[in-house]
Amino acid sequence: MNWLTNYVRPKIRALVEKKDVPDNLWHKCSGCEQMIFHRELAATHYVCSHCEFHMRIPTKERLEMLFDSGEYQTIKVPKLKGDPLKFKDLKRYGERLKDSRSKTGNDDALLVANGKMGGQRVVVAAINFSFMGGSMGLAFGKGLLAAARLAVLQSAPLVCITSSGGARMQEGILSLMQMPRSVIAIDEVKEAGLPYISVLTDPTTGGVTASFAMLGDIAIAEPGALIGFAGPRVIEETIHQKLPEGFQRAEYLLEHGMIDRVVHRRKLRDELIKILGLLLESQQQENIVSIKTAARKNAQDFKLKEVSENEERPAAE
Ligand SMILES: [Zn+2]
Repeated sequence: MNWLTNYVRPKIRALVEKKDVPDNLWHKCSGCEQMIFHRELAATHYVCSHCEFHMRIPTKERLEMLFDSGEYQTIKVPKLKGDPLKFKDLKRYGERLKDSRSKTGNDDALLVANGKMGGQRVVVAAINFSFMGGSMGLAFGKGLLAAARLAVLQSAPLVCITSSGGARMQEGILSLMQMPRSVIAIDEVKEAGLPYISVLTDPTTGGVTASFAMLGDIAIAEPGALIGFAGPRVIEETIHQKLPEGFQRAEYLLEHGMIDRVVHRRKLRDELIKILGLLLESQQQENIVSIKTAARKNAQDFKLKEVSENEERPAAE
């Protein structure tokens, strides 16, 4: 009966017992349902090699993929202390924060990194979807402002990589207040005459779409990314109509003029370098000044003109 103990028993045990090997060795592609080995997935930057479906890529890998030689520094973003509204749904907000922090190793959903892309210094603000669905709360808003100010300080362009469910409901009104705050942050970059590029990845929805994500000088999206304010199900239930195929997907939005480009993840770094190069080059050539500076200059010229006219008058008399 040796074959029973040596062969059958281990087989059954292997089926029944919990395995020690991590369960994320194989990923199932949501596009074609093929199983992909984790090493292959990392090598293709989480793009399915069978059908080119773009899966969500961890923020660390995303940043490494974009910066020269994968080198960058992250800056410390102010951390949310305590729970401002003492919010509790199925779990306390404080507990959710703690869980997400230990799961991701980040303090909040927004990561601010700076480094070089094609030799050009760039500040990148990337949202980590694994941290409470990339939702925007107080710390997020502060982080975005810090990213914008860092960009201005370094005279570097700002690139935002979005992937978010929108506002963080556990912070209620405080979360909604981050929408205008994020717009102000982007405005600071624009006022300094620096390029702001927004890279929309799957999914970019809610308050993030309704604020800084849509303000890019150039808006790039990844293939198949869901981008919208309310989800398709909510819209269908509200308007009682079937939505067209591909609605709110990157390609549909490109066709309807809401975004500028749909770029394959493999080409994203090169595309960013090219666009930033063009924007910065044209800026140097034309010496573009921000609207505020131009207005100030106009006002000064006007005053000078007035003064010189006044000075001329007594001489004419
Ligand atoms: Zn696939």
